[in-house]
Amino acid sequence: MANGEVVFLSGNKGGRFPYSNCLFIDDEKSVIIDPAAQKEKLIAISRDKNDPLVVNTHYHIDHIRYDSLFERSPVAAHPLDAKAIASIDENAHLVGVEGLPWENEWKQWMMSFGFPARAVEMEVNDGDELCLGKLTLRFIHTPGHTPGHICVEIPEKKSVFLADIDLTKFGPWYGNKYSDIDDFVDSIERMKQVEAETWYTSHEAGVLKGDISRELERYGRVIEQRDERILDALSKPLTSRQMVEKALIYGKSWEPIQMFIFFEGVMLEKHLERLEKEGLVFKEDDLWMRAGG
Ligand SMILES: [Zn+2]
Repeated sequence: MANGEVVFLSGNKGGRFPYSNCLFIDDEKSVIIDPAAQKEKLIAISRDKNDPLVVNTHYHIDHIRYDSLFERSPVAAHPLDAKAIASIDENAHLVGVEGLPWENEWKQWMMSFGFPARAVEMEVNDGDELCLGKLTLRFIHTPGHTPGHICVEIPEKKSVFLADIDLTKFGPWYGNKYSDIDDFVDSIERMKQVEAETWYTSHEAGVLKGDISRELERYGRVIEQRDERILDALSKPLTSRQMVEKALIYGKSWEPIQMFIFFEGVMLEKHLERLEKEGLVFKEDDLWMRAGG
């Protein structure tokens, strides 16, 4: 008999890509949030529990890769991310790799991780609540990382699944075409308003207790630190490519190099756009430079 228990499942590799931590909620209606943790445990859940609802917090492969283990379960996600769970083409579009020379290579890489191509039968919007029996899920739309990123609150347990507001040392990640820094900042602020005692993140440690406002503050500050590194680097004019080579976001490059160049470049570009709007940098021909410097 389900007792309204919340079970945290840590991902392989310390919950690092291509895995993530996952939450199983054992209630009259059971739920699995982001099935991308240890496959054996997920297989056991899919075997022993009655087709739990699959909730995907967003469309990234390291959150949806084992959706297919729950083939009889409906999938729930935010409407802005739903199509990118159902279709690899739409996924490539939102990531921003559509039309790039390595688009197909990238799609094959996603397929090799198990891209589920599952239709989202249940769209969940900000503030929606879903009664499971003893427990309730409350969905909080927290865009920025992706347009339809959601956090999931379980009020009766004073718990929140923060997904990729992941509080890692690396900081917020907004390396997709439709990621948005300002939205991410707002989403971090929004989570400061939520009261809970247990917080789950998708990557690394995964479970935090008590007041996390300082962690959220530290995490959000990483964005400002990246701004500062960019402004420092622009003590002399640089092209975008020269800035990417400095790995101002990631700290150092990684393989495959074309993906590093892409993700570093997307994140850098979003900072430059923001700094340009604030009047702190401008672009002349191919060169970025600091205003008034
Ligand atoms: Zn993600």
